[in-house]
Amino acid sequence: RNTNQSKKDYKRIGIMGGTFDPIHYGHLVIAEQIRCEYKLEKVVFIPAGTPPHKSNLCVTDSKHRYFMTLLATITNPYFELSKIEIENEEISYTIHTIEKLKKIYRKDTEIYFITGADAICELDTWKNVNKLTQLCKFIAATRPGLEASQVDAKIRELKEKYDAFIEKIDLPALAISSTDIRNRIREGQSIKYLLPEPVEYYIYKNNLYKEV
Ligand code: ATP
Ligand code: MG
Repeated sequence: RNTNQSKKDYKRIGIMGGTFDPIHYGHLVIAEQIRCEYKLEKVVFIPAGTPPHKSNLCVTDSKHRYFMTLLATITNPYFELSKIEIENEEISYTIHTIEKLKKIYRKDTEIYFITGADAICELDTWKNVNKLTQLCKFIAATRPGLEASQVDAKIRELKEKYDAFIEKIDLPALAISSTDIRNRIREGQSIKYLLPEPVEYYIYKNNLYKEV
């Protein structure tokens, strides 16, 4: 790789955005599987600053979410971690993040935005979705709890409405969510094997998710 070049030299990269409160095997499995399936040179994990759709709820300090994401991604040479959203005090919108990335990478670098099926179904509500869908492609992983036919219909509708590139990929259904992990901790139940062990220990060491 030519380090003298001002623009980062990649053909296809994945972006894995999320609150990661905490990060779990659902996130990691979809990122890795989509990386392989779409031959992505790397996947950049971008913990959200203050996520627009969660700003009214209590989100854990971004410092903790950043460290947990670091612990979870450190063993994969194709995973990278970015502070681009959390070093920003303001609410982070995906459109702003992708526009920033477009300046860092070559103009022809293809950006694949990785989401779960629940997130893609809400694409209509994302800021500046018209422009966003011209800047990146979307790959949505199926997620338990959603009717496949409904997801397919929604994706068809979105593709037409925005002339977007959206593909759905069926992955081993992992019924893991951060909400469930937080609830388990509050209720004193085990979270073992739902997320990487170092993240589990980080949570206990820092007393996270004990209170509502
Ligand atoms: P919360 O319950 O707090 O919303 P979450 O588990 O949904 O947490 P997020 O950080 O909100 O995690 O999700 C980031 C992205 O990862 C979203 O696009 C979401 O759809 C996707 N995702 C999370 N868990 C899974 C899973 N088990 N299967 C497929 N996609 C998932
Ligand atoms: Mg979620």
